[in-house]
Amino acid sequence: MAPTYRLKTRSTVHEFELIHALRKQHNLRTPSVIRGIGDDAAVITSKAGQWTVVTTDLLTEGIHFDLRTATMADIGFRAAAANLSDIAAMGGTPQYLLVAVAIPHAGSSRHVHQLYRGMMAACRPHRIRLIGGDTSASRSGWFISLTLMGMVPPHTALFRSGAKIGDSLYVTGTIGDALAGLKLLNEPPARGTRPSRVATLSVGHRQFLIGRHLRPTARVAVGQWLNTHGFATSAIDISDGLSGDLRHICEESHVGVELDLGALPLSKACRAYAASRKLDPIDLAQTGGEDYELLFTVSPWQRPRLEQSAVERGFDLTCIGKIRPHRFGLQALSPQGQRHPLAHTSYEHFT
Ligand code: ADP
Ligand code: MG
Repeated sequence: MAPTYRLKTRSTVHEFELIHALRKQHNLRTPSVIRGIGDDAAVITSKAGQWTVVTTDLLTEGIHFDLRTATMADIGFRAAAANLSDIAAMGGTPQYLLVAVAIPHAGSSRHVHQLYRGMMAACRPHRIRLIGGDTSASRSGWFISLTLMGMVPPHTALFRSGAKIGDSLYVTGTIGDALAGLKLLNEPPARGTRPSRVATLSVGHRQFLIGRHLRPTARVAVGQWLNTHGFATSAIDISDGLSGDLRHICEESHVGVELDLGALPLSKACRAYAASRKLDPIDLAQTGGEDYELLFTVSPWQRPRLEQSAVERGFDLTCIGKIRPHRFGLQALSPQGQRHPLAHTSYEHFT
């Protein structure tokens, strides 16, 4: 649709110049893109029979990001990582990106270029092509929407719905880090001569946790590996928090689960942060969202092959529970050996 407005508020952004510049910078040629940025719609080719995987995310200033604690490049990077993670959780190979932005009065084309730099930094290792988008003005903050397309071989996507009784539950990497990083960013700065609480956490740990929040890594290679080897019976990425996302697997698969809280993989930094703030690191791991690790289930007979292959490839996996019958419900086993219902809390944007 032709724009009916002009984004020229006090010479900040001019839509056509901006699109032209984005096109010049990011519109890399590749044979599968017949038409990228610059026409009414993009045209791409795909191999016959392949399944297409598509995901979209809408990020709203003040709800999903805060410009006081993140740069535009961080926001772009994290937005792309979230979409990459959705494709990873389906076992897919990400390929094409479309980006829509609504720019507030205070926004400039410099901000938009920084946003794209962050996005493309996350996308570059996967050779993703930016093939289009849309640009608008906004009267109330930034809106950023990404649509990422990818592919899986026919009949081989990872769904949330395939978990079976007796399967083992696994997670990649460490969890709880991104929430710790977000909490660190939101802590008020230390004032006066009172000893700073931040001082009790090493700079290295602090940087690691903030990095895990602002610049998460989507587990694309792990997702593809799980999918092509047929290792996982179900999979999801951890975007809302372990307990919330595990609930999705159980609901879609009509099963129960026993989560072993003592087995949750925690980073040294997350433990140190929790100790310094008198928090339980298991709570952070259970409820913290946006780690973008993969949570998946594996049949008992596949476990030896999975673990052997993971070691060979250097993938970091931890077994954190077992799938139980539906009537068992969703239960957590504490490190002290007590069973209780799985925490209901998960990361919520509307609070
Ligand atoms: P239309 O009026 O058909 O929406 P536009 O002038 O908005 O066309 O867009 C022209 C071209 O620029 C299209 O190829 C579109 O996909 C691309 N485009 C527009 N905005 C963006 C953006 N923010 N990022 C990437 N590509 C964009
Ligand atoms: Mg348009």
